[in-house]
Amino acid sequence: MTDTRARYQDVLNAISRSAKDSGRKPEDICLIAVSKTYPAEAIEPVLEAGQRDFGENYVQEASAKWPVLRERFPATVLHLIGPLQSNKAREAVELFDVIQSVDRESLAKELAKEIKRKVEAGGQAPKLLVQINTGEEPQKGGVLPQDADAFIAACREQYGLKIHGLMCIPPFDEPPSPHFALLRKIAERNGLKELSMGMSADFDPAIQMGATCVRIGTAIFGSRQKA
Ligand SMILES: *Cc1c(COP(=O)(O)O)cnc(C)c1O
Repeated sequence: MTDTRARYQDVLNAISRSAKDSGRKPEDICLIAVSKTYPAEAIEPVLEAGQRDFGENYVQEASAKWPVLRERFPATVLHLIGPLQSNKAREAVELFDVIQSVDRESLAKELAKEIKRKVEAGGQAPKLLVQINTGEEPQKGGVLPQDADAFIAACREQYGLKIHGLMCIPPFDEPPSPHFALLRKIAERNGLKELSMGMSADFDPAIQMGATCVRIGTAIFGSRQKA
């Protein structure tokens, strides 16, 4: 566990350095610690070190782990960064503060319905990010770049959703910077401020290209067991 704390501190320092190197303020970059596949015992030292934003990929896994941790750390901000099935929209809206994987109209429609229900019951709407499939990879979620403007407009106008920003996962085997640049361009022309881009291997270029949040798993928690 001391390893986890040391790695966490290294990541914070590296983010700070990248920010300063690109003339940005470290506090303008949000670190999301990606805790998918890790049990509560592995997450606790990072919570105790003061980390507040966490990313999870699966609704089921997150709802098993986080309600208990959150009782002890109520300021936790939970981000859903994995694909979301429409039939899990209600659970996701209940559990997550940010949903970063909005990527199709059927999901936008379900989210609109579930957010309305939650807000009417006195709850808070999660922030929403649209995932863009910048590499146009068939196996990956996300809206194709050429469909992004129309999709964002539909979210806003047809479903009344407030969109806060964009998220992407560049192809594993390509230089990431062109993908980060594309995400930024789509965000700028749609008036969106949040750019969720950069993971353990590529958060430095992401920060140089304007990332407002980076999603970092293995560099903090160590390598994951393949499920
Ligand atoms: C797993 C995951 C991450 C973290 O990846 P690491 O390489 O472990 O830092 C970030 N974003 C998404 C969408 C992920 O699924």
